[in-house]
Amino acid sequence: MKAIQVKQVGGPEAMELVDLPIPQPKANEAVVKLSTAGVNFIDVYNREGRYKTPLPFVLGQEGAGVVTAVGADAKSVKAGDHVAWTGQLGSYAEYAAIPADRLVPIPKGVSERDAAAAMLQGMTAHYLSHTTYPLKRGETALIHAAAGGVGLLLVQMAHNLGARVIGTVSTEEKAKLARAAGADDIILYTQSDFEAETKRLTGGKGVDVVYDSVGKTTFDKGLNILRPRGMMVLFGGSSGAVPPFDLIALSQKGSLYITRPTLAHYTATREELMGRSSAVFDMIAKGKLKLRIEHAYPLAEAQQAHRDLEGRKTTGKLLLIP
Ligand code: NDP
Repeated sequence: MKAIQVKQVGGPEAMELVDLPIPQPKANEAVVKLSTAGVNFIDVYNREGRYKTPLPFVLGQEGAGVVTAVGADAKSVKAGDHVAWTGQLGSYAEYAAIPADRLVPIPKGVSERDAAAAMLQGMTAHYLSHTTYPLKRGETALIHAAAGGVGLLLVQMAHNLGARVIGTVSTEEKAKLARAAGADDIILYTQSDFEAETKRLTGGKGVDVVYDSVGKTTFDKGLNILRPRGMMVLFGGSSGAVPPFDLIALSQKGSLYITRPTLAHYTATREELMGRSSAVFDMIAKGKLKLRIEHAYPLAEAQQAHRDLEGRKTTGKLLLIP
């Protein structure tokens, strides 16, 4: 089978198209023939070695397809089932062996392509807005990179929960998309100071929560725009990692809360994984969550997909088609 493998960590050129044997399922696994793999920023971190992974490895943490083989103990799925998953390496490939209890069935009304597009970013937007800081009607959220993959979904969910959404983006084109997704106010943070603008937009009160996936370039100012006892949800570092931080600043800036969550801990049990994926699929099937699939690249063009994602060129979701 064709797969994108990393033998040495590095830039996009570290991704090699190789031929590998089709995996055989271990007792607890099922083998899935992928129709679609999702591209996510975490793939960049794996490829660069920012998140350490034993070498060599097949990239990719999100996919959807049809079960072709099951191990002896894999009781939750059978051959022919349409399934999706996230959080397991190896989806930039024609086949992947995945622990059966991490596979979720794709319901009627949701395509495999949409399921692959929504597993990682959709469930992330869901846990951020419904669990980490459960937004209430009338609250205000600042969402950075609001036209990104997670961004566009988080804006929609926050809007649907009745929150006022202030989004930051780098271009006018991205501003339009974020507005269409439900953002009330947009700040072009490459052109104006988002701290000053947010203070102006909130009449000096600040926001209830900042959802920050950009990290290094936005974190410090984000703390300055929270209301007293507001929450900083730092969930990524697209501009680089946030350097070590002195906790006394939380007291000085208003007894703030801060968390650095990750999806794995919000889908750790089978029950939570099923509940969260069903909630997201339900939103898609009912038209309450619109997926913007920006581009579907052939598997062999994985390098280009990463260049586009890292180059801040993309909006919404990128897919690979094996
Ligand atoms: P995006 O589609 O959001 O792409 C990243 C965006 O970040 C860019 O489009 C860009 O938007 C913005 N950005 C700002 N500064 C930079 C920079 N210096 N270099 C590159 N991009 C920059 O990606 P994803 O939706 O896949 O992921 C978003 C973030 O969320 C990532 O950091 C990812 O690791 C994190 N994440 C965390 C999860 C968790 O559970 N903790 C789960 C899923 C994702 P603009 O041009 O508008 O500034």
